[in-house]
Amino acid sequence: MPLHQATPGRRDEVFDLYARDLAEQSLPKYKMPEKSSLADTVYNLIHDELLLDGNSRQNLATFCTTYVSPQAQQLMQDCVDKNMIDQDEYPQTAEIEHRCVHILADLWNAPEASSTIGCSTTGSSEAAMLGGLALKWKWRKRREAEGKPADKPNLICGPVQICWHKFARYFDIELRELPILDGELCMKPEQIADAVDENTIGVVPTLGVTFTGVYEPVEKISAVLDQIEKERGLDIPIHVDAASGGFIAPFLHRDVLWDFRLPRVKSINASGHKYGLSPLGVGWAVWREKEDLPEELIFNVDYLGGQVPTFALNFSRPAGEIVAQYYQFLRLGKQGYTDVQGACAQTAQYLAGELEKTGHFDMLYNGDGGLPAVCYSLKNSDQRAYTLYDVSERLRMRGWQIASYPLPENRRDLVVQRVLVRHGMGRDLMELLVEDMQRTIEFLDRNPMTNSEAGPTFHHGR
Ligand SMILES: *Cc1c(COP(=O)(O)O)cnc(C)c1O
Repeated sequence: MPLHQATPGRRDEVFDLYARDLAEQSLPKYKMPEKSSLADTVYNLIHDELLLDGNSRQNLATFCTTYVSPQAQQLMQDCVDKNMIDQDEYPQTAEIEHRCVHILADLWNAPEASSTIGCSTTGSSEAAMLGGLALKWKWRKRREAEGKPADKPNLICGPVQICWHKFARYFDIELRELPILDGELCMKPEQIADAVDENTIGVVPTLGVTFTGVYEPVEKISAVLDQIEKERGLDIPIHVDAASGGFIAPFLHRDVLWDFRLPRVKSINASGHKYGLSPLGVGWAVWREKEDLPEELIFNVDYLGGQVPTFALNFSRPAGEIVAQYYQFLRLGKQGYTDVQGACAQTAQYLAGELEKTGHFDMLYNGDGGLPAVCYSLKNSDQRAYTLYDVSERLRMRGWQIASYPLPENRRDLVVQRVLVRHGMGRDLMELLVEDMQRTIEFLDRNPMTNSEAGPTFHHGR
C-alpha cells in the first residue's frame, strides 16, 4: 500500500509529485479516470510524455516555425481565450487580421492593396481550398453563361503538396498533376499546353515545391497561358501556392515575377506559420481584386452593427497566431524579414557546400534561388549497403529529424533527403549536423545494413 494511503491526515502538498495517485500508474488511455488529481501531478506526467516527441528545433523536416520569441508567446497567451470568428466581441483582433491581409496584398503587389479581399485560415491547406473553390466557381459561372456543360472541371499543377489532392477529391475536380520530367525538380511550362482544355479551372504553380524547395516558374507559366489564350481562346487563371515562398521571394528574390504583378495571377496562398514566422496555425489567402472571389462564396457576419464578409471552411479558430503574425510584421519589418530569411538562405547554402565536400551526396538543390532548403540524394547509392532511410534513422540518435523520401510520379526511383533551414537555426548547429552526417556515413560504411529496406519513417509534406 502506498505510504500516503497508510498515513491518514497528511496534507496533499506534503507528498512528492511522482509518488502519488496518477504517477503510480500508467496513464489512462481509454477511459476518463473516476477521480480528479492534483494539477501539478497531471501537468508533470503529460509534460514528461511529451519529451518523447523529440526536440522540434532539430526537426529539419518541418517547414513550420519552431522558434517563437517570448513576446510572440506572450501575445499568444494574451489571446488564448479569443475566438477569431467572434468579430463582434473582439473587433480589434478582427481589425488586426484585416491589417495583415492588406500588408500581404501589398507585399505581393496587388493593384489595390488597401481594398483587396483576403482572409486568414488555419494554414495553407485551408487557404488552398478557398483559392481552388473560387477558381471552380468562376469557371462554372462562365461555362453556364455560355450554355456549356460545367460538370468536369480539372486543375493543372506540378508536383503539389497533399492539400491539392485533398481539394481535388473533396470538391470533385480532376487533378492533372504533371509528372516531373527527367533531370527536373518541378513542372516545366512546356508541359502545360497539352494538359489544358476548356474544363481547366486554373493552373497552380508552387513557389517552393515541397519535395525539392525550388520555385516553379510562374512568369513563364503565365506567358504560356497568354499564348494559349491567343491561339485557343482559353483564358485560364493562375493561383500560386506560395505556402513558403510567399514569405521568402518578396525579401530575397524581388526580381522573380510570381505574384500579382502578373495579371493572370488571381489568388495566392501562404502559410503564416512557416516562413511567415508566426506560431502554428495560420495561413493566408489573398485575391487580386474583389471580382476574383465569387460573391456566392462569401458569408456575411454581423460586426459592430455592420456586416463583415467571411470566407472560411472553419468556424471557431484561435486568434493568437494572427496577432503574433502582426507582431512579426511590425517587429521585423521588411528589413528584419530580409535579414532572417537571408541568414537562413546563407546557412542552407553553407550546408549544401559542406555536404558536397564530403563526396557522399549529389546535390539536387543547394538553397540558392528558392527556399532556404537543401535537397540531395546519396551518391552511388546502388553500390552502398545502406540507404538514405538508414542515414535518417541513425541521425535520430543525435536528435536530428531529417526526412528521406522518393520524389513524386515519374522520378520515384530517386530517394532524396531534404533539410529546411528555418529561423533559429544558425551556422553552428549546421556545423554540428555536418559532423554527425559524416560520422553516420562512416559508421554505415563500416557496418553495412543487412536488411536495408526501411521505408519512410515520417511524412515529408510538412
Ligand atoms: C506546407 C504546404 C502546404 C500546406 O500548408 P499548411 O500550412 O501546412 O496547411 C501547401 N502547399 C505547400 C507548397 C506547402 O509547403
